[in-house]
Amino acid sequence: MEEYAKINNVPIMEKEGIEFLTKYIKENNIKNILEIGTAIGYSAIRMCLVDDSITVTTIERDKIRYDEAIKNIKAFNMEDRINVIFGDALEVEVSGEYDLIFIDAAKSQSIKFFNRYEKLLKEDGTIITDNINFHGLTFSKEPAPSRNLRQMIRKIHDYLDFLKDNKEYTSRYENIGDGLMISKRV
Ligand code: SAH
Ligand code: MG
Repeated sequence: MEEYAKINNVPIMEKEGIEFLTKYIKENNIKNILEIGTAIGYSAIRMCLVDDSITVTTIERDKIRYDEAIKNIKAFNMEDRINVIFGDALEVEVSGEYDLIFIDAAKSQSIKFFNRYEKLLKEDGTIITDNINFHGLTFSKEPAPSRNLRQMIRKIHDYLDFLKDNKEYTSRYENIGDGLMISKRV
């Protein structure tokens, strides 16, 4: 899967990032996970491999990636534990109660994902958001090389401000992989 991701430019989690995430899941005894952004199922499968009792609901809007995820999940015999929802995470209806919500989809939409899904978070749950560094661009002194990228970076800073101002959660930044925010309900 790592090889496929590399060849096809699928932005799966970086090695240190997924190691941090799986360790966090283990140490905090996390069982039910909601993931926004399945891609080819790599992180969903890695999270399930932590423990047999873990289940993941995950959302993907790209048909090619969704199909690839279904194939990979079958190969790991995890069809019963990973529920892949095909559609836009800002439109599909999702139910359930989750110990962890992992946001790893369109980087400009993190505030919307957070607001749409936090009601499904258990009382002492955690929201983890990936790609805060945006490949080093977020905290770079140099302006990003294109208008699109600058806009993206602005959105990431908006998300960081949103978390800082959010009194219901305490958020901490981890400079691991491509940068993670760990937000816990107060
Ligand atoms: N979590 C995966 C990587 C996800 S890459 C892993 O580490 O293995 C981000 C994915 O989010 C892409 O496949 C993209 O198609 C999907 N995505 C982006 N915006 C989305 C949205 N609004 N709804 C559903 N999926 C989205
Ligand atoms: Mg990511």
